Amino acid sequence: PSPDKNQPIYVAGHRGMVGSAIVRCLQRHGYRNIVTADRASLDLLDPHAVRRFFTERQLAYVFLAAAKVGGIHANNSYPAQFIYENLMIEANVIEAARSAGVERLLFLGSSCIYPRDCAQPIVEEYLLTGPLEKTNQPYAIAKIAGINLCESYNRQYGTRYVCAMPTNLYGPRDNYDLETSHVLPALVRKAHEAKLRSDPHVAVWGSGSPRREFLYVDDLADACVFLMESGVAEGMFNIGVGEDVTIRELAEMIMRIVGYRGELVFDASKPDGTPRKLLSVERMQKLGWKHTTSLETGIRRAYESFLSEAAKA
Ligand code: GDP
Repeated sequence: PSPDKNQPIYVAGHRGMVGSAIVRCLQRHGYRNIVTADRASLDLLDPHAVRRFFTERQLAYVFLAAAKVGGIHANNSYPAQFIYENLMIEANVIEAARSAGVERLLFLGSSCIYPRDCAQPIVEEYLLTGPLEKTNQPYAIAKIAGINLCESYNRQYGTRYVCAMPTNLYGPRDNYDLETSHVLPALVRKAHEAKLRSDPHVAVWGSGSPRREFLYVDDLADACVFLMESGVAEGMFNIGVGEDVTIRELAEMIMRIVGYRGELVFDASKPDGTPRKLLSVERMQKLGWKHTTSLETGIRRAYESFLSEAAKA
């Protein structure tokens, strides 16, 4: 049964890149009762506050897109915050949802939950079959706990909580802070600033040879709403595009789109991270979902939103 469009749907993390895309998608689909709460009014790290919020709002559906996220450097620098905050947010929201009788919840994970050296493309069954990549292990372990919370609650309480595992995301409201961002927004900003300053070089971390898959965030939001509206009662679903590029190829594509003609310089003192993480998208394709935004189109849109944010600031 499809969700009732008048019932209250809570999007946790609505200010973030993913949560804000889910809100846009729900609005497009005609949902009329989207509930959000900013940090000042609801602290997701506080179990009592979260429980009170769920009881008062009589929520029917939940998208759990709130998380502490960051790129390779942020994960390496703040490992304790990455595991603690993510564990707390998940445990608090999922338990409050259960206790308030929320039947349907969608939890957002990440492709870094899979073993570092697993076969490619990565199918969902590879979860917990090998050691994780070290640079973001605390984050990955928290996300694996979130998946297990959903599975365990379904098993014990008969809930219908499902998990979406997106590949690397980008798009409007991305983080462009060079210390904490992921590679795609970092390179958009670096190429843009190098163009403005007529710098001859742009620094790219690592060797340029790791491969990554990138999904435009509005496509992810579409997949999440699709899953919520589907009859699927449980399980985890990779959300990706089914193709990856090297970091060098990505950097070259971004330079072309930004219109920067300088050179790339690879900084080997920075980590490469996992060599490759390409998701198998078969499970979603069998349900009838596929992404629609190409990498080229997505980067153009992301660059436009970067420029309009920069103009506002
Ligand atoms: P990961 O996918 O978890 O490894 O996270 P990132 O998106 O931060 O990094 C992906 C890859 O891009 C790694 O090999 C990075 O070393 C590389 N990379 C190249 N330049 C940059 C940059 O300016 N910022 C970031 N975050 N990564 C970069």
